[in-house]
Amino acid sequence: MEATAIPHLGQAASAACTMATNFLAPVKTARQIYENSMLEDDPNANSVPPTCPEDRATPRWGPNHRGAQELASLYSGGKRNQEKICVIVCIVLITLNMLFILVRIRLENLSGMVIAALCGCITADFISGFAHWAADTWGSIELPIIGKNFLRPFREHHIDPTSITRHDFIETNGDTFAVTIPVLCKLSWDFLSLPEPDIQKRFFWICYWYQLTIFVALTNQIHKWSHTYFGLPSYVVWLQEHRIILPRRHHRVHHVAPHETYFCITTGWLNWPLEKLRFWQILECIIEAVTGCKPRADDLKWAQKRS
Ligand SMILES: [Zn+2]
Ligand SMILES: [Zn+2]
Repeated sequence: MEATAIPHLGQAASAACTMATNFLAPVKTARQIYENSMLEDDPNANSVPPTCPEDRATPRWGPNHRGAQELASLYSGGKRNQEKICVIVCIVLITLNMLFILVRIRLENLSGMVIAALCGCITADFISGFAHWAADTWGSIELPIIGKNFLRPFREHHIDPTSITRHDFIETNGDTFAVTIPVLCKLSWDFLSLPEPDIQKRFFWICYWYQLTIFVALTNQIHKWSHTYFGLPSYVVWLQEHRIILPRRHHRVHHVAPHETYFCITTGWLNWPLEKLRFWQILECIIEAVTGCKPRADDLKWAQKRS
C-alpha cells in the first residue's frame, strides 16, 4: 500500500509544484524587466545590452532625462515647508497615541492586537496601491494645486526612479505623513474624551487604525528602500527578504514601462492577487468609458520629454 502511495504522492507533489509555478508566474518576464525598466542595481550599466543611438544621446531614464530635470525643478520652498510641518505634527501624534495604547496593553489582548495590526497592514497596502494608481494614471501636472504639489513626484519617479534615493527624510515622507494626520487626531481625541469602558470596548479597532496609520506613514520610506540597492541597513534587507515590507525585485515589476501594474508599495502583498483579478485594468476601462480620459496620458507625455 505504502509503495504505491509514495509514487502517487510524488506525482501529486510534482503536479502541485508545476501548477504553483505556472499559477504564480511573475506578471512580467525577466526580459521585459531587463528591456523596459531602469537597471537601478547596475548603475555603471555593465549588463545593459547595446542600446539604440537615441537611448545613448537622450536617456529613457535617470537624472539626465530632461523631463525628470524639469519636474525636479518644480519642487518649491512652500511645498517643503508644508512637508516639514506635517512630519513634525505626525511624529508628535504617533508618539502620543503610542503612549495611550501602551498603557492599556493586557496579556489577554495580545492575540487580538496582532490580528488588528495584520489587518491594518493589509489595508495600508491596498490604500498605497489605490493612491499610487490614481496619481500615476489620472490627472496632470497642469492641475491647480495638486498637479505640482502632489502629482509631480509620481511623474518624476517613473522617469528617474533613482531620484527617490537622493531625497532626504522630509521630502520622502512629507506627503504620506500628512495623510495620516486626520486619523491620528481622531484617535487622540477619542483617547482624551471617551470614558475608559468605551475605549476598552473599541480597543481592537483603535489598534487597527493605529497600525494602518503607521504603515501608511511609512509607505514612501519603505518605497525608497525598495529602490536602494547599496548600503541598506541589514534589518531593512531582512524585512525585504522575508516579504514583511516591499522587496526590491518585487517593486521592479511596477517600473516596467508603461507602469500599469503592481501599484501597492507598502508590503506588496496585494499586488499579485489584484493583478490576477485584473483589478486596475477593469477600473481603468470603466473610468475611460465614463469620462473618455486615457489612462497614463500625462505620464506618457513626460516620459517622451527626452530632449
Ligand atoms: Zn508608479
Ligand atoms: Zn518605485
